[in-house]
Amino acid sequence: MLALSIRNLTKTYANGNQALKGIDFSVDAGDFYALLGPNGAGKTTAIGIMSSLVNKTSGQVEIFGHNIDSELEAAKSCIGLVPQEINLNLWESVHNVVLNQSGYYGLGRRLARVRAEKYLRVMRLWDRRADQARSLSGGMKRRLMIARALVHEPKLLFLDEPTAGVDIEIRRSMWDFLREINAAGTTIILTTHYLEEAESLCRHVAIIDAGLIIEDAKMSTVLRKLQREVFVLSLAEPLSKAPKIDGFETTLREDCELEVAKGPAHTLNDLFAQLDKSNIKVVSLRNKSNRLEELFMRLVETTKKGVDESSAS
Ligand code: ADP
Repeated sequence: MLALSIRNLTKTYANGNQALKGIDFSVDAGDFYALLGPNGAGKTTAIGIMSSLVNKTSGQVEIFGHNIDSELEAAKSCIGLVPQEINLNLWESVHNVVLNQSGYYGLGRRLARVRAEKYLRVMRLWDRRADQARSLSGGMKRRLMIARALVHEPKLLFLDEPTAGVDIEIRRSMWDFLREINAAGTTIILTTHYLEEAESLCRHVAIIDAGLIIEDAKMSTVLRKLQREVFVLSLAEPLSKAPKIDGFETTLREDCELEVAKGPAHTLNDLFAQLDKSNIKVVSLRNKSNRLEELFMRLVETTKKGVDESSAS
């Protein structure tokens, strides 16, 4: 069963901006799907159309088989949306934000109270239920929007940049929670700027650039395209020059900071085996480049090359 099917979807805003130029993709029920792309690519527009906040220009959208043109209410009842912008009524209490949302979906009072407590507890906001939403931190407001989106237990949850501005510890607990509801059957579609987030959570990914889908595949397939990665190693003891390591490019940035570029043919095990042999101790390691940006650049280059080649032939 498909949770979502999109065919030849276009959107041109009133000012002539062509945000979507004809995109197709589908998401299986139960999937955890990432929609990635640089700023301005069209992700929010796509999510806006799927959740009926934005009118499409043309194309078809079906949510669990319900066409949004002919069965909008049925489609909407399947959806929960956590938008990118904070759109809470900031003068409402935390508890009422969630209770009132239950009202929109016709939940009875008793069930609404049970669900509100359940999701406010999960989002670690139950203790703050009497406070006005405006008194919450940015990360808490985002969690409140997630609790609000879940109260009618939608089959398909859209999350537009759910962890923007959320600190790392809470981000991880949100990931655990999202994995849990996905395992329990909720289909999730997520946009994010953090490749690590998509990598850690999602099984499939579509990459959108300038209103077109330029990649739609399993996450593992897409990650394999990231050929070259640069790591920054913090060393236990200073070096006077960069060591020679077979198969890797090395650059000494500071006497205790070594940059190492790794291609697809080598593993980090190769690197560490050679460092061990040379008696170089590594205290920590991090990715230098923003892998997501690197991935976009690579895919955009490949797409352009394809277009150039086909127009040359
Ligand atoms: P993303 O979420 O990937 O950053 P958006 O969907 O927000 O991208 O934007 C896609 C394009 O549509 C951008 O060029 C943006 O400027 C434009 N756009 C978005 N919303 C509007 C709007 N309400 N009116 C006109 N243009 C818009």
